[in-house]
Amino acid sequence: MTYPEKFQGIAVLDHKDWKNAKKVEYEPKVFGDRDIDVKIECCGVCGSDVHCASGHWGDIAKPLIVGHEIVGHVVKVGPNCTSGVKVGDRVGLGAQALSCMKCKRCLNGNESYCPNAIQTYSTPYEDGYVSKGGYADYVRVHEQFTVPIPENIPSHLAAPLMCGGLTVFSPLLRNGCGPGKKVAILGIGGIGHMGVLLAKAMGAEVYAISRTSSKKEDAMKLGADHFIATKEEPDWHEKYFDELDLVVVCAGSVTDIDFNTLPKIIAVGGRIVSIAIPEMSEVLELKPFGLVGVSIANSLLGSMEELKQLLKLVSEKDIKIWVETVPISEKGVHEVFERMDKGDVRYRFTLTDYEKEFSSGN
Ligand SMILES: [Zn+2]
Ligand SMILES: [Zn+2]
Repeated sequence: MTYPEKFQGIAVLDHKDWKNAKKVEYEPKVFGDRDIDVKIECCGVCGSDVHCASGHWGDIAKPLIVGHEIVGHVVKVGPNCTSGVKVGDRVGLGAQALSCMKCKRCLNGNESYCPNAIQTYSTPYEDGYVSKGGYADYVRVHEQFTVPIPENIPSHLAAPLMCGGLTVFSPLLRNGCGPGKKVAILGIGGIGHMGVLLAKAMGAEVYAISRTSSKKEDAMKLGADHFIATKEEPDWHEKYFDELDLVVVCAGSVTDIDFNTLPKIIAVGGRIVSIAIPEMSEVLELKPFGLVGVSIANSLLGSMEELKQLLKLVSEKDIKIWVETVPISEKGVHEVFERMDKGDVRYRFTLTDYEKEFSSGN
């Protein structure tokens, strides 16, 4: 199989004009001996893409190729690869492209917390090359950060699991979500809707928490057993007092959460885990009394081992996340950015039709 020396992608060239990304050609990183090249079939659209493209997380080197929910087929395998990955395999790549692989965190399955982690896009590698993501025809990455996709998961439904799915699965798994547990997902959006599906599949009794009841019908269809509309039920924290074991906060920002009230619905020893990556300037104000008996943490992504477990669960339980597909192009990227910015998606976008947009190569 032949393919071009240079890759092509839909790139943000200016944060001020971020919604009008342009098709560009660029050099990939130098091919490492454990790297693989993946011809991309589709890529999910994550909230991080919008934060980075728009400049919310600071000025990022251009061309900025976002996208870290990548599914595609392997077209080249480095000479020292050890995972058994082969040309032609369908693999996925999430938000992390590399870690140091030798610190304590890397060695105990917490590589997503490695202080020297390289994100799939927008992070400089050791040689200064800034990583580039999945709104592109190909991606080059270390084999260790890719996973095989089980046959029965369609690519467009597998893609959003790579970052969004893993981000909510990891705190569910690490905090005992399962039979006999009462678990709430707060914030029913792209990641939250996957949280409801996954928590249910893991065997928990699931509570969906949202401000209004506008998403109640969807949440119940996704498998929630209870729905709490905090703006519409002023006494919700009394009604559900002491009930939950775990609340995973999937809202975009934790500063909107009232941490004096939310812990009331949690049993002593229970936990609140947020998955939000807010803007840098955000500060969380906490009154210790509000947290009596309850722990609070912030989770970040998940490990490659957890990603494999997630795919196994989705495959075995035949979980279908709710995805809207949009063909990739300058116009398609504009559309998803525009709609993500407005919160107009139920519940996740996957960019598709890569073959049509990127016709060079084989
Ligand atoms: Zn490390
Ligand atoms: Zn993401």
